[in-house]
Amino acid sequence: MTTRRTEDSGLRTESRPTSQSPVLSPQSSSQSSVLSPQSSFDVAIVGAGPAGSTLAALLARRGASVALIDRDRFPRDKLCGEFLSYDALPLLERLGIDLGVTPKIERCRVVGRHRTYEFEFPHSARGVSRFLLDDLLLRNARATGAQTLEGCTAISVSPDSVVTEAWGRWGRFDQQLQRSFVRDHSHRNFGFKRHYRGVPPRGIDPTIELYSFDRGYLGVAGVENGITNICGLVHESRLAGHKGRWDSFVDEIRRDEPQLEQMYSQYEPAQDTFLSSEPVIFRARSAVEQGIFMIGDASGIVDPLTGSGMAMAIQSALLAAPYILDQEVEAYRQRHEEFFASRIRWSRGVAFLLSRPALLDIALTAHSLGGYLLRRTRAGRDEVERLADIEFRR
Ligand SMILES: Cc1cc2nc3c(=O)[nH]c(=O)nc-3n(C[C@H](O)[C@H](O)[C@H](O)COP(=O)(O)OP(=O)(O)OC[C@H]3O[C@@H](n4cnc5c(N)ncnc54)[C@H](O)[C@@H]3O)c2cc1C
Repeated sequence: MTTRRTEDSGLRTESRPTSQSPVLSPQSSSQSSVLSPQSSFDVAIVGAGPAGSTLAALLARRGASVALIDRDRFPRDKLCGEFLSYDALPLLERLGIDLGVTPKIERCRVVGRHRTYEFEFPHSARGVSRFLLDDLLLRNARATGAQTLEGCTAISVSPDSVVTEAWGRWGRFDQQLQRSFVRDHSHRNFGFKRHYRGVPPRGIDPTIELYSFDRGYLGVAGVENGITNICGLVHESRLAGHKGRWDSFVDEIRRDEPQLEQMYSQYEPAQDTFLSSEPVIFRARSAVEQGIFMIGDASGIVDPLTGSGMAMAIQSALLAAPYILDQEVEAYRQRHEEFFASRIRWSRGVAFLLSRPALLDIALTAHSLGGYLLRRTRAGRDEVERLADIEFRR
């Protein structure tokens, strides 16, 4: 295996003093610096979400020196349904991540206007907050030997550095690289999330619930410490008139959909505000851009409704790890396409149904729907085991 070591990473960063700032607030950055004091490393990874932290650990296990950079300080909250699909779990086990305190999720309930449909998962999934999961993954990367730089925003990348982009679905480099989805205004959606407690307080139901409303949907899942996460996605066109106020929008969907009113009335907020973030744009994107490796959401977005974005992010790190040090971009691009392209397409089809309550009621009459769509939108357990074997039996 040949590796390319850069003396100066060519990666410019700026440090941010606060531990975690709300995603929509302006970034308070101070000075900028070239990441050179620690720059004798093989690979720099921008973004310490599930994709970046997993890749950092895998490359460090392979003996590479790795810098893992994130603008946030951990633990930190993140917009997410916090449902961790079962096809991520064998990989986390191999990484030595213990999710012991988090609830198991055994089944899914889809609640339409007039019908409810329930199906079992073939294996248990987990409800886990991003406070906990992302912090566990970051710590694991550090313990494995990666150098972690929290509170540092990467602001430019030199073309001759070995950098992997794991910055999520929307980053400043997407504009710099002139990625076409950035200009797309017709497929823009926004997510919203808040943690709640049951009224009266009660144990967590091992069921994830999905609710439909016009041009959007939301999921309800238990996470650790008796918290229930309610997280949704809505097309931008539905937000007109709310002036960025998520409480006003949630009041509206509660008025529109009695099943949502019934659900929300069982909870009280456990967080002061809603968390939202940059737009979610469902357009094809490439796993390699101008020779730069992309992993996780930066390489392709599966619709959040499937609850498999984090699993895909972790899997994409496993797919990329064998190719990065030798810069085999084309081999990685192909592997990524084979593994994910069809799942991403199917996820959009399912989201189309879920954000149209009347259509959803019709679709829910098909009794084998759940198992069929699960198979189309995520990796099989044996496929994931094979992927893990390649990496961990080296
Ligand atoms: C509404 C909604 C609900 C969802 N629900 C689920 C769900 O229930 N289950 C599921 O599996 N997936 C869900 N997803 C998808 C999931 O959140 C993503 O697929 C997953 O977070 C992708 O991981 P990642 O590591 O690629 O990126 P991210 O988790 O987005 O991490 C990217 C990291 O990069 C950092 N960063 C960005 N730019 C810079 C920079 N310039 N310099 C330094 N650091 C930078 C960020 O701070 C961040 O920590 C949901 C998504 C949405 C929008």
